[in-house]
Amino acid sequence: MKSDVVMDTVMDVVIIGAGMAGLTAAKQLQHRGKKVAVVEKSRGTGGRLSSKRLPLPDDQSLTFDLGCPSFSSETPQFKAQLDKWLADELIVPCANQPEYYVGRERNSSITRHIAKDLNIHFSTRVCRLEKERELWQVYTESPTGEQLFCTAEHIVIATPPQQAYDLLPKGNSLCPLIEHIKMEPQWVLLLAVRSSTELKIDSAQHPNIKSISPEHVKRGAKPDDSVQYYQVQAGEEWSQETINWERTRVESYLLSEFEALCEQKIDIIVSHLHRWLYSLPSNTPIDNKENYLTCSEKIHLSGDYLATNQSRHGLECAYLSGISVAKQI
Ligand SMILES: Cc1cc2nc3c(=O)[nH]c(=O)nc-3n(C[C@H](O)[C@H](O)[C@H](O)COP(=O)(O)OP(=O)(O)OC[C@H]3O[C@@H](n4cnc5c(N)ncnc54)[C@H](O)[C@@H]3O)c2cc1C
Repeated sequence: MKSDVVMDTVMDVVIIGAGMAGLTAAKQLQHRGKKVAVVEKSRGTGGRLSSKRLPLPDDQSLTFDLGCPSFSSETPQFKAQLDKWLADELIVPCANQPEYYVGRERNSSITRHIAKDLNIHFSTRVCRLEKERELWQVYTESPTGEQLFCTAEHIVIATPPQQAYDLLPKGNSLCPLIEHIKMEPQWVLLLAVRSSTELKIDSAQHPNIKSISPEHVKRGAKPDDSVQYYQVQAGEEWSQETINWERTRVESYLLSEFEALCEQKIDIIVSHLHRWLYSLPSNTPIDNKENYLTCSEKIHLSGDYLATNQSRHGLECAYLSGISVAKQI
């Protein structure tokens, strides 16, 4: 092994990505006594289940769910997990849609909970994998280019498929299985408004807005009665068409459409626009019964896009994929 490696322990498994799939797999593997490290490019857990804190003018702040606003289950396996999280008071039923659930304080608290006691390295982007003498060398970005971060027997890539494809060594047998899978981009606008009456918003017929989630309602509590806050999801098709627009142009379009749907002038306290480059799979992925992909070189792929034959819900797919990929390592 090269002497300048950042982590000098050889891991049994390195997992790339601290979203639901990666963390679920890591937890299972660690439970079975494997030496596991998780490497995540962002500053926190959650991936597409992350939350965002926005400052308010009066030194207060609001936490919004930035990706998945709420979730549900179709399989007994995920239902059992939701029941456990409910019993642990980690999640609550949505106040406005009781068949759906949200994290009790924020959705990212679920992945934070799973991440407890795991060996996770944040703000660390994996840029290359190379096999040397039966072990995988994991290279991460560094200010001077790249550095050897650690070595491992197994690698689980738990990222969206395009990012996984970029990490697979050229010629790996998994490349042709995922190269056609596309994920839709999506704009999301977080918005806090001041209004003395509950706004009536029906976005169902809007051609370019997929949904508007009243964030202040779903957990059944309001920090301040006059403040209402919303997660506005743009439609996938419109997001695709406008993905290279200036952010200010996208934001002003979504704000004006929001106002039009409210049929009144809105007093905006704070807004924040986020561009998800990979939101949900846009085409039917592979016919894959296992919820994960693996190859003889001990690279394994996990993520929501690999379990769509089991559920229509992205978060559930990610969870099922994480469970399955861990079982066969
Ligand atoms: C706007 C939006 C709305 C949604 N609504 C719903 C919904 O209503 N219901 C539902 O069930 N699901 C919904 N989803 C989907 C759900 O959030 C996802 O299916 C699920 O969170 C995916 O988990 P994952 O672990 O497969 O991937 P991700 O959450 O994408 O995790 C991948 C992780 O890998 C990290 N990563 C990527 N590349 C690297 C690298 N090179 N090095 C290190 N780390 C890397 C990323 O930062 C990320 O944290 C929604 C998603 C979005 C974006």
